[in-house]
Amino acid sequence: MKKRGLGTVCIQGGYEPKKGEARILPIYQSTTFKYDTSEQMARLFDLEDSGYFYSRLQNPTCDAVAAKICELEGGVGAILTSSGQAASFLAVFNLCGAGDHIVSSAAIYGGTSNLFTVTLKKLGIDVTLVDPDSSAEELNAAFRPNTKALFAETLSNPTMEVLDIEKFAAVAHEHGVPLIVDNTFATPVNCRPFEWGADIVTHSTTKYMDGHAMTVGGCIVDSGNFDWMAHKDKFPGLTTPDESYHGLVYAESFGRSAYIMKATAQLMRDLGTCQSPQNAFLLNVGLETLHLRMPRHCENALRVAQWLSDNPHVAWVNYPGLPGDKYYERAQKYMPNGTCGVIAFGLEGGREQAIEFMDHLQLGAIVTHVADARTSVLHPASHTHRQLSDEQLLEAGVRPDLIRLSVGIEDAEDILADLNQAMEHVYGG
Ligand SMILES: *Cc1c(COP(=O)(O)O)cnc(C)c1O
Repeated sequence: MKKRGLGTVCIQGGYEPKKGEARILPIYQSTTFKYDTSEQMARLFDLEDSGYFYSRLQNPTCDAVAAKICELEGGVGAILTSSGQAASFLAVFNLCGAGDHIVSSAAIYGGTSNLFTVTLKKLGIDVTLVDPDSSAEELNAAFRPNTKALFAETLSNPTMEVLDIEKFAAVAHEHGVPLIVDNTFATPVNCRPFEWGADIVTHSTTKYMDGHAMTVGGCIVDSGNFDWMAHKDKFPGLTTPDESYHGLVYAESFGRSAYIMKATAQLMRDLGTCQSPQNAFLLNVGLETLHLRMPRHCENALRVAQWLSDNPHVAWVNYPGLPGDKYYERAQKYMPNGTCGVIAFGLEGGREQAIEFMDHLQLGAIVTHVADARTSVLHPASHTHRQLSDEQLLEAGVRPDLIRLSVGIEDAEDILADLNQAMEHVYGG
């Protein structure tokens, strides 16, 4: 199919009804699908035919939404997962087992950090965290013979660092492993990591893609670009027979779709972290306006970032869309149309003032959520990252005074007025 504009894909991607079929993507609220002969069903179980048989593995509603996200990212295949956490886990676990190792940027979401440094460790998978601004030499030094992937966030939650995707891709490929990037904050509307060399993209669709704080979900997209057979010994899961499918070899049977087929046929089958068709339907409604919402989030956030940086009580502001920001130039390269609505900043004083300021917001709400149509705030040191010590916080680039402000798509004047009145409560008028 001819490459379509992102707006068209947001609206129409993934679902093309034929004559007389529902104009809107139907919710296939069915665990199972009917066949006429036992033989037909058997072929599905052997992956010899493609077709639906059980919604833990695949469901038409979920597949349509995954196909839309896949087209937005420019991949060859995608699957929805029950959450962003499930997406991160499956994306890595599809390549690793006990005795393996991954390298990850330290500037990642708190939940991903726990997953990698605590839970993966229990499964025997070791992780080395690196400063995403390390030189190529420093990154190289983190790799081991058993390293199976490099992981990072395109825009880091909550520190708002912009990844040098080309540098990370080059280092990963030099070591014969794929680059997996979490593109949750930028969304494919603002950044398409495959165009810069990333191999696998993950999303927490809970954030901007849904955009209305309705459903928790995730997605994994495969670029199809990584040559598993060229690194046969590193990735036996993809390049040697899978006994649970009568000795099928994913990289031989599915070529460029090997990775995503294995994630579906093997990991989704065994771990069951699928998305419900109801949630996929709601996610799809969110996706239909992603290309309209992202520019408005960026426009509002830029005004707020400007206002914060002009305020004498604001100690520092991280917003890569703001001229003068440490990551401004890099953001212009990778995300020329804008980054997202999230701003990280600190107030004069620190922790106490941050909490007082947040408690006085009226329009902006304190919620464990981000990247929503409604303006929201969170204090990572007290909330999402509270498991981390102050030392670990700083390692992850999360200063104890950091306020994560997720600028919504309300009227900018009202957001600014709310920030202003809260600021007056803390520092006087
Ligand atoms: C929220 C988030 C996740 C985890 O996603 P859930 O849907 O909450 O499981 C992963 N990565 C990033 C960047 C996030 O913001």
